[in-house]
Amino acid sequence: MYVAKMMNKITLSVCIAFALLSNPVFADEHLHWGYSGRDGPANWGALGEEFATCKTGRLQAPIDIPLGLAIQNDFPIKPHYKSSSGEIVNNGHTIQVVLADGGSVNLLGQDYAIAQFHFHTPAEERVSGKRYPLNAHLVHKSTDGTIAVIGIFFKVGAENAVLKNIFLTMPPKEESIPLTEKFDIGSMLPRSLPYYKYAGSLTTPPCSEGVSFYILAIPLEISQAQLNAFQKIFPLNARPIKPVNGRMIVYSR
Ligand SMILES: [Zn+2]
Repeated sequence: MYVAKMMNKITLSVCIAFALLSNPVFADEHLHWGYSGRDGPANWGALGEEFATCKTGRLQAPIDIPLGLAIQNDFPIKPHYKSSSGEIVNNGHTIQVVLADGGSVNLLGQDYAIAQFHFHTPAEERVSGKRYPLNAHLVHKSTDGTIAVIGIFFKVGAENAVLKNIFLTMPPKEESIPLTEKFDIGSMLPRSLPYYKYAGSLTTPPCSEGVSFYILAIPLEISQAQLNAFQKIFPLNARPIKPVNGRMIVYSR
């Protein structure tokens, strides 16, 4: 009886460990990492076996998008987002808005459900050397588990009314709080959605590849006060740019 119980316990913990390891999104639960010093981006690949791709990967994100190499195409982003409840999470690395049922987007004929969006300062991607002070990554998943990220740049200007509540209530320390009102990704997007597409990776450990990035060419605005509010919690949470390594960039209107 006791042995059987123990075996069950062991089997269970092995399963949990395996589930964590095999799920790239959760593998970073084990190891501490950050944006400076010994745990910083230059050392991510050496912090543990499960972060090795951060060092050895050839299709890593973010990149400085080389406009001269972009191939023109015409595959518009088709948003099908909807209003959803959710949570604002400070996960120790960024502020992340996790949506319960925020709808989906159709990219090149495939549907991807929105899971969460989060912010980086300064912006992670650059376009022909240009760098914005903030970007959002909208993280989507298809039913087969493929991840697609829509990137949105922010420049300093008018207050962003759609994000007002989120910027006012984001938790300064690690915790989750419910959104005070439903949020619709569709209401936050620029009016037209030209983008640059490249094949990349998670920009945080474990840096798993196979992530498609659709970086919107038109930036949105936030006020200096909104930028300050985010930077007060996370002064810098952007991975440095990685080599393009001959990757194809597609530009679509
Ligand atoms: Zn990101």
